[in-house]
Amino acid sequence: MMRADPIQRAVDEDLVGVLYAQDPIAFFSHWFSIAVLVSIYWHNMPSPQLFAACFTFYGIANCAGLAMWVWNRRQPGALTPRGWIRLHALRSVLLYSAPGLAIWFAFHSRQAELPLLHTVLLVTLAAGVFMSNGFDRLNFTTSVPLLLLPAIVLHIGSHTFDRTILAIVLAFFFCAINVYAISYRRLFHRVVEARVDQQYLAESLAVQKHVAEEASLAKTRFFAAASHDLRQPLHAIGLLAASLNDPTATSEQRTKTADHIVNNVDALNQLFNQVLDLARIESGVTQVIRMHFRLSELFERVGNQYWPQAAAKGLALRIAPTSIVIHDDPVLLERVLGNLLSNAVRYTEEGAIWMGFRRAGRRMGGFIEVRDSGIGIAQAEQEHIFEEFYQVANPQRDARQGHGLGLPTVKRLIGLLGSELQLRSVAGRGSVFRFAVELGDPVRAVAGLSDAAAAVVLTAQGRHVLCIDDDPSILAGLASLLGRWGCIVRGARDERDALEALATGFVPDAVLCDYQLANHRTGAQALAAVRDALRRGGRENVVTLLITGDMASVELQALAAQGIPVLHKPVTPARLRRTLELLWQQADSARAATSGSGAGIVQGSAVDTMADTVGAAPSIQLGRPGQLA
Ligand code: ADP
Repeated sequence: MMRADPIQRAVDEDLVGVLYAQDPIAFFSHWFSIAVLVSIYWHNMPSPQLFAACFTFYGIANCAGLAMWVWNRRQPGALTPRGWIRLHALRSVLLYSAPGLAIWFAFHSRQAELPLLHTVLLVTLAAGVFMSNGFDRLNFTTSVPLLLLPAIVLHIGSHTFDRTILAIVLAFFFCAINVYAISYRRLFHRVVEARVDQQYLAESLAVQKHVAEEASLAKTRFFAAASHDLRQPLHAIGLLAASLNDPTATSEQRTKTADHIVNNVDALNQLFNQVLDLARIESGVTQVIRMHFRLSELFERVGNQYWPQAAAKGLALRIAPTSIVIHDDPVLLERVLGNLLSNAVRYTEEGAIWMGFRRAGRRMGGFIEVRDSGIGIAQAEQEHIFEEFYQVANPQRDARQGHGLGLPTVKRLIGLLGSELQLRSVAGRGSVFRFAVELGDPVRAVAGLSDAAAAVVLTAQGRHVLCIDDDPSILAGLASLLGRWGCIVRGARDERDALEALATGFVPDAVLCDYQLANHRTGAQALAAVRDALRRGGRENVVTLLITGDMASVELQALAAQGIPVLHKPVTPARLRRTLELLWQQADSARAATSGSGAGIVQGSAVDTMADTVGAAPSIQLGRPGQLA
């Protein structure tokens, strides 16, 4: 049980408090008991030497008990709570054995009333022990039996009627206080448990309150920054557009104003795309498409994008040569590295930027690292820089200095790739961002990342495409577009139409399907029915593609998880074509591989044309299934 340990510890701590709290009172009671016993035996002391030894021991044990109490008060941390409890039990053994065993003297004295007097004293002591040690089983069992059992045995052994009765009464008393002590202990345990529960509840409430406060603060910051960043270009566009109406403006001024408007629209577009990108990653529709590829190629692609910026600032951009092949998603990795390099360049004024791969002790993989000798990030800022719209030093929220969306995107992408973004940074001395990647299989490495895209030739010619959309104008548009690419197209208004087309012998190479269909049917359902029909007809490797304006539905997430390609509206012709060609190419190579030609298989549902990302804003326009801008 989760709380078991804290409760046992709390019980022990409370026990230590209770046990030791009684010790000073016990100290005086024991001196009183010694005085009483010595005085009743004084005139008729059987075996005086033994008696003296026994009572000297009793006195010493009593003083030792007090010394222990002082030690506990002064250095409570010297022993664990359990240790203090055990030590107290040892004290009980020493302290209670003396008066308990000393009743032997009473039975060897000539005074007949001594056993009775001694027994009365023992019962008094046992009652005291019940009060002080009853909470703890160990301390109770190391004291009460020592006090009462010798007396019971000796009374029974005396073989007289009234002594035997006394022995029985004593035995009854012994059992009774044992039973009481047990329920006493249970009660004590329950009280402590309730206290711990309450404490636990109070602590977790405090933590939750803190988390809620932090979240609310972060949300406030987020909305303040986001609304500012979105409103700023909108405001500018509004003012600029109004000035276009100014009849006194020259045509040169108008052209300039129009340029400004275009720039602001671009900025707005870029910001929207960044936000949408984050939302897509978060909603789970971004697909991870892993392949085996040479890391050096990816480094080269990203390096080429950023070295002009680095060179313009007089920074050296060093890319460590590497020959390893990794198994990962090159498109997502390119975005990650693009963001990290762009930050490295932005936040470094002199020195160098380094990008490379390090094994760092990993056998089946290693780390990709991006280092810079820039301004670094103070420790206190390091936990915040991954929050959306958070920027360390841009209080005026100058859009030219970014929006604070790069690192949140990077962090999520790396999470999506199954790794974790690590940061080491010292203010003023630079930063290192790194994350783990898995090694790939050189034999299965794709021929080349750029070539993979370039090698997509006009594979559309002569392909049969079945389009399912309940909007006739879209069907007409698709038919004309695909027809121009040399495809043979068949349109279907719904699932039934599509199945009919198949029944009439139309064998598609691809099925394009809108997500929201008429009669509350979804494209996913239609595609499943079509795929079933095709499978029954012996066609397995048909490319299917879903087109949607929806972004975060549970069904879309499930499709993404199954690797079913999804394109998000608006779909440009170029993107549609590239996606289709890649899917066909992938299906062809999968077919070739299963028929034993040994061609490299591209894993995942579709290979992306990385061409889209080159030179584009790092977060957008990836042109891959599942994340179309
Ligand atoms: P942006 O760079 O657009 O501001 P990011 O999310 O990429 O947004 O980064 C958030 C903040 O983290 C930046 O404002 C910057 O202060 C800090 N930061 C990111 N990368 C670095 C780096 N390499 N060196 C120093 N600071 C950095």
